[in-house]
Amino acid sequence: MSVISAVDVFPVQYPEPNDSGALRCLLFVRIRSDDGAEGWGEAVTMFPGATAATAIMVESVRELIVGRDPRANVALWHDLQAEAWWYGHRGGIFSFALSAIDVALWDLKARLAGLPLVDLLGGARVDSLPVIASTHAFDPSLEVEAERHGRYVTERGFQGFKIGMGKRGETHIGYEVGRDIEFMRLLREAAGPDAMIMLDRGKKITWTLDDAIARVRGFDQYDLKWIEEPFEPDHSDELRALRAQVSCLIAGGEREWDVHGYENALADGMIDVVGCDVGRAGGVTGALQVLAVVEREHRWFNSHAWSSAVNTAVSIALSATSDRVLLQELKPDINPMQDELVAEPIRAVDGRVAVPTGDGIGVVPELDVLKHYALS
Ligand SMILES: [Mg+2]
Repeated sequence: MSVISAVDVFPVQYPEPNDSGALRCLLFVRIRSDDGAEGWGEAVTMFPGATAATAIMVESVRELIVGRDPRANVALWHDLQAEAWWYGHRGGIFSFALSAIDVALWDLKARLAGLPLVDLLGGARVDSLPVIASTHAFDPSLEVEAERHGRYVTERGFQGFKIGMGKRGETHIGYEVGRDIEFMRLLREAAGPDAMIMLDRGKKITWTLDDAIARVRGFDQYDLKWIEEPFEPDHSDELRALRAQVSCLIAGGEREWDVHGYENALADGMIDVVGCDVGRAGGVTGALQVLAVVEREHRWFNSHAWSSAVNTAVSIALSATSDRVLLQELKPDINPMQDELVAEPIRAVDGRVAVPTGDGIGVVPELDVLKHYALS
């Protein structure tokens, strides 16, 4: 029997070309067993303080993990939840720590079994997923940005794109109703009739209900697939009013931490596409609980995977187990945590992304890359 022998943390900070070069942080966790096997996990901590705090959380439970049987990973997940009863109830920094630990344990368990993660989860229902480019817009010209996004579809093998609004850069979308609708028109023109186009409001923008209705009805004319977080998560009255007036899907949920939060968020029936990040919502074990609710409620599960190749590989495996998944998001432009971190980066090929078939999560972070981008 294998026994867990070591738990190590690797906080990183890296420039993200898909976010105007902004510095973003992640926490990687490596769990090793006494027979030389190892598994990797990641928490999408994003900010330096959250990353440092998550590292402390992981180290604080190290003694509970070392010496345990990695095959009993879900039992360990429950034990860790119980340990954090006071400071980790239904989310927060401890959920980041739990997520990274849990993903590393699933990876380790799958490698010890000689199986891809997806097989350990019950098996893939599809061998690939439709893939879209998940992006931000930077250029002041709407025409330039529309053409750039069109090329993701016509030249780069993506089936569409999702653009975050209210982000860095000079495009300033999400602030003027008429200009936003014109952008959507240009996007549709550039990407063609079959491309999936999604728009994501972004926390820094506030829409009135009237503005949101006018804007999304305008987007609907050009066949918007979904509008993401048009309002803050608890604004269900606005969401209900918007939903009655528009035809696209409504997406949300990515800021929830656990299945109880998701159940509350889905209770009013206003969210069609449920964003969930394995690096935030309790790892694979937590996300499986959310996926079960999404399937039961006949909504769509969408991995919030805008992070490293570890997060993406796990997300694809998880999504491949369900028939309630529309697509997989990928950051389209070459970036350190997807393209430098692993030997074989995850790519869009002919509009789809393959489910990893290697042992475990199918990717292994390069130690020298983690060292190069170490958060000091
Ligand atoms: Mg989002």
